[in-house]
Amino acid sequence: MLILGIISGCRRAKDTADVPEVITTKTGIEMVAIPGGWFEMGSENWTSDESPIHEVWLSPFWMDRFEVAQEQFKKYQLSDPSHFKNPEHPLEQINWTDAALYCNERSIAEGFEPCYDEETWQCNFDANGYRLPTEAEWEYACRAGTNTKFSFGNDTKKLKNYAWFSDNSSGKTHPVGQKKPNLWGLYDMYGNVSEWCNDFYSEDYYKKSPEKDPKGPAMGEEKVLRGGAWNSSADSCRSSYRSSDPSIDDTCLANDAIGFRCVRNANNRKSTEEQDISNDDKLQIVSKTGFLYDDIYLDHKTTDGHPETPQRLAAIVDRLKIKGLYSQLIALSPEKASLEWLLTVHTPEYVERVEKSCDNNILYLDSIDTPISQQSYEAALFAAGGVLSATDAVMEKKVTNTFCAVRPPGHHAQKDEAMGFCIFNNIAIGARYIQKKYKLQKILIVDWDVHHGNGTQAVFYDDPNVMYFSVHQYPFYPGTGSGAEKGGGEGLNYNINIPLPAGSGDSEYLQAFEDKLKPAAIDFSPDFVLVSAGFDAHKDDLLGGMNVTPQGFAEMTRIVKQIAEKCCEGRLVSVLEGGYHLEGLADSVEAHIRILME
Ligand SMILES: [Zn+2]
Repeated sequence: MLILGIISGCRRAKDTADVPEVITTKTGIEMVAIPGGWFEMGSENWTSDESPIHEVWLSPFWMDRFEVAQEQFKKYQLSDPSHFKNPEHPLEQINWTDAALYCNERSIAEGFEPCYDEETWQCNFDANGYRLPTEAEWEYACRAGTNTKFSFGNDTKKLKNYAWFSDNSSGKTHPVGQKKPNLWGLYDMYGNVSEWCNDFYSEDYYKKSPEKDPKGPAMGEEKVLRGGAWNSSADSCRSSYRSSDPSIDDTCLANDAIGFRCVRNANNRKSTEEQDISNDDKLQIVSKTGFLYDDIYLDHKTTDGHPETPQRLAAIVDRLKIKGLYSQLIALSPEKASLEWLLTVHTPEYVERVEKSCDNNILYLDSIDTPISQQSYEAALFAAGGVLSATDAVMEKKVTNTFCAVRPPGHHAQKDEAMGFCIFNNIAIGARYIQKKYKLQKILIVDWDVHHGNGTQAVFYDDPNVMYFSVHQYPFYPGTGSGAEKGGGEGLNYNINIPLPAGSGDSEYLQAFEDKLKPAAIDFSPDFVLVSAGFDAHKDDLLGGMNVTPQGFAEMTRIVKQIAEKCCEGRLVSVLEGGYHLEGLADSVEAHIRILME
């Protein structure tokens, strides 16, 4: 997705002689305009979590010139947790969540959109308010165009001019801004208090982090701290030194050497380098993720109180719009699936029965699980057709990957029978389409809906060219999906079921993905990856009994995306299956799409 490598090495962050502009915000806080640009993040010679050194591009942003002082914090009626009480000293003993809360309060006070969701504490990077810096932003600002041990060079003896640290602090914090600033005019980037970043900490994140504006792992136990503090050794103040702390929201754990400063996006300020990039036809930095949707999907009506409602798609679309993601996605419209493609999976008698049942205003198709309305046949044709249209967009390279917000869902549908809210098996028809139309033989279908995709399994049970991998609650509806169902004939071992007991959550799912899916999929080496993306394993979903969080879905997405990138140039189409808790569904789809967009 990012084809920036060829210019790395020949362009650098702005000339350091060029000191960035400083502004004073409405509430009187000084901020430095940090220019966008490339830098080398990490170091090779110290601890393993700092390597490998990797090229990172950052968009421009504003950063507080000083650490947040106690007097500033108290302006928002937030109680001062600091140990070394003094209005001019940096705030400390602050847990991560309260630092994020301060960012929101300050955003509101200045008329900006807050970045943090105060329930999940996820950061909306599209909002224009204040937030904690990403780890990459912090290091980039700290280095200010240098790649030495400190921003003033490699001579540790000079650190005392720039920092309050163990050698000169007398065991306490000091007023902010007393030492020399770095080359970009930022004070106390080393010492005094170490500073919270927005990122979760992961020791090996640098090996897989994206090149442009990396935002850290989607989940983790601890948040990153940078810069060292009054009690740190000189080596723990280095530009690339990483530490972390578990006191995300536990005030009792927060220590008196931890503070923070804020940043804010400066998207309207394009740096010269960014302009150079957008002018160069060979370079693309836009996300190429498609979003397939059509209002026809709302015309498939179910009975009152049925969980599979049109509101599910409304919740998804609303969320993407509110978070500013919708406009960054490439909108795709579905075509109707023709009979030719329906018949690769279903019998002609069944297709005819669906059409007639809808025409005749029959209330249910095959069982009371699957209520229908007059427009359901049409909607179902567009749901299956949506997967085909999404596939075309990927194959024509209009997009790299796509999420299809379709209904009715498909993975329970049998060749001649509707089942479990499903009419046509959208994903199975998609797989046959890719094989026949594009001559790509090997398809991987990953199904993380809480229910076993019995319909999909049945279609490909004997087929060695379609690997079906399903992780699901078991025993549970629809009854199938034991580990012993491994495929038949030539298809033996190409059907992989990972049945999990009720109550399983992120760690069980991710373990299955790491230990079972990854090796099998890479060995299989698919030409195309399809995802039956059901979100009913979400912890709040009433139809499932699992405990998966949106971050868990994000991590599963990352693994599947890595498989597609390794095996088939990232070709991936994800298709909505279940997911019935509207808020949980929106949270999860948002998390899923954010990873697809990276
Ligand atoms: Zn389901």
